[in-house]
Amino acid sequence: MFPTIPGLHHVTSIASDPRRNDAFFTDKLGLRRVKKTVNFDAPDVYHLYFGDQAGSPGTIWTSFPFPDARAGTVGNGTTVRTSFAVAKDALDYWEAVLGGRRDSTFGVSRLVFEGPDGEGLALAAEADGDGPEIRSLHSVTLSLADTGPEAEILSLMGWEEVAEEGGERLFSAPGEARGKSVILAGRPDAPRAREGAGSVHHVAFRVADDAGQEAARQALSDAGYGVTEVRDRQYFRSIYFRTPGGVLFEIATDGPGFDADEPAETMGQALKLPGQHEHMRDRLEDELVPLD
Ligand code: ZN
Repeated sequence: MFPTIPGLHHVTSIASDPRRNDAFFTDKLGLRRVKKTVNFDAPDVYHLYFGDQAGSPGTIWTSFPFPDARAGTVGNGTTVRTSFAVAKDALDYWEAVLGGRRDSTFGVSRLVFEGPDGEGLALAAEADGDGPEIRSLHSVTLSLADTGPEAEILSLMGWEEVAEEGGERLFSAPGEARGKSVILAGRPDAPRAREGAGSVHHVAFRVADDAGQEAARQALSDAGYGVTEVRDRQYFRSIYFRTPGGVLFEIATDGPGFDADEPAETMGQALKLPGQHEHMRDRLEDELVPLD
């Protein structure tokens, strides 16, 4: 039995210039940097986490900024757009700040724009309340030659297909959590994406706790997916598997959260390293580009 997957946990991208990446997601989009750490699998590179004030699962965008990364190309087998939720009347404000173009997808008005490395981003005007600030993730759009296999995975996870529009299929999680939508865009003739700066590296979904994660791992494994062992990511625990269409999915626990190794008030400022990389601190602090 698959545990409840209430929505997206985070979206992780590849970037180039760390300073430009950091400035865009904090100064321009107004997210809080909730963690400054390194890529646990390649510690010479930052892993920057941006989200709401509390660093809540479902609000998080993360970046691996490789200063010399070449640009990726858009295509099949990846996430081509990540949408954040804003209030219904916030798009005029954001259009003045970001430019971009307006459209409407599945009845929701959006402002579509690009990040500094060409990241495919949008603001979806669907949240309640006032104020222009980004509330959470809204949805991701996956570009696929064939949407069938990914539709099967989302169904296995308990998500339902709720609408279809121009070759795009909208899937929603049960309940009303943040980031509860995935759009599968069927593009049979599109080329395959090439990973690089501006590309999404993986999409993570939420699970409440370790028991739920183990249940998910078992269910995916029983269904024939090659899923990894549990990896400790310090702020959550993760399993990963690649979909038949080439998209890397992660399932991450809600806890322990970004205040696990520093106070919530100041998190995101100091360079935090997991225990296994602490011995490299001097060198990393010397080599990583300083951030504000
Ligand atoms: Zn991740």
